[in-house]
Amino acid sequence: MKDFNFFSKKLITWYSSHKRNLPWRGIYDPYKIWISEVILQQTRVTQGLKYYNRFIKRFPDIESLAGVEEQEVLKYWQGLGYYSRARNLHRTAKTIMDKYNGVFPKDYYTILKLKGIGEYTASSITSFAWNMPHPTVDGNVFRFLSRLFAIDCPIDTIKGKNHFTELAIQLMDKSKARIFNHAIMEFGALQCIPSSPDCTVCSFKSVCLAYINHTVVQYPVKQYRTKIKEIYFYYFHIHDSDHLYLNMRKEKGIWQNLFEFPLIESDILMDFQQLSNTDQFRLWFPKKHIYHFELIVKNQKHILSHRILYAYFYKVFMKRIPNSFDTFKKVKLMEIDKYPIHRLMQFYLGKILPFNRFISTFE
Ligand code: SF4
Repeated sequence: MKDFNFFSKKLITWYSSHKRNLPWRGIYDPYKIWISEVILQQTRVTQGLKYYNRFIKRFPDIESLAGVEEQEVLKYWQGLGYYSRARNLHRTAKTIMDKYNGVFPKDYYTILKLKGIGEYTASSITSFAWNMPHPTVDGNVFRFLSRLFAIDCPIDTIKGKNHFTELAIQLMDKSKARIFNHAIMEFGALQCIPSSPDCTVCSFKSVCLAYINHTVVQYPVKQYRTKIKEIYFYYFHIHDSDHLYLNMRKEKGIWQNLFEFPLIESDILMDFQQLSNTDQFRLWFPKKHIYHFELIVKNQKHILSHRILYAYFYKVFMKRIPNSFDTFKKVKLMEIDKYPIHRLMQFYLGKILPFNRFISTFE
């Protein structure tokens, strides 16, 4: 397809009649655009929508976001996963307040230097807010362009990313960057979908090389396969009539700064005998006391991008809580919704605590 003008026109025409009505469309406020883009990374639109509306209601501008404690931001993020996104939003809001007087910078390269903002997000902000000609190349765009032009260059390589970005710049009608970017992403999301797109109704079927050559399933090409690691999480709910014993995850990685029960992590599946022979278990549950362990949740699967977690929750009954739990935070049951917790904890508490209001709100 040589006529790039034809591409842009056709795409924008398609978009005008097929676009979804979403609250972050048709707004020019860089703050709200930024929040919507960050929420939508790794999140489905239907789920992201609820979080976006709730987040914007509580933090309507940069100042309100910068002015709260990180824990409150994490609380509003609870259940979305990839919590580093929320921490970075908060840090960047503070930076904008301190360095730019609370005004979102307009320069692409200045925006790119802000914590948690990569090329895709910087392009979204500058094109949607100010119609600047920076292409938004997300997974939908990779897929659509790779099929349309039958491009074999792997999308998960630097070379591939550069290639697709340059192609998107060439295809873009520079005076309509805002609508072009919305349209190309929407086309990938709604028409050129990952599996079995209905090519017979596609506006580009007469020029799409993958469709013409019957090779749609071969695109996009990837070089690397993500290695998925399996991990086993053994949680202990220490029974104490109206308290929970929680720990804040300090390590970088998943769920940093979120609260959870005492946990033993393992690369292998362990039966209770093996679990009770681990050093950590013996430290927490010294032999001089008598315990009763009840397995409440078994093998609860939780899928992350690079890992599959299998969670086990034991409720532990004992006459006296050993000193080994002094380092944990003793939280009143009725106050649990003040603490940010991750999805596995939400799942467990939702199962055992009927009063737990916030769980049902976001499931
Ligand atoms: S014809 Fe099919 S594969 Fe090609 S762009 Fe359209 S939907 Fe995608």
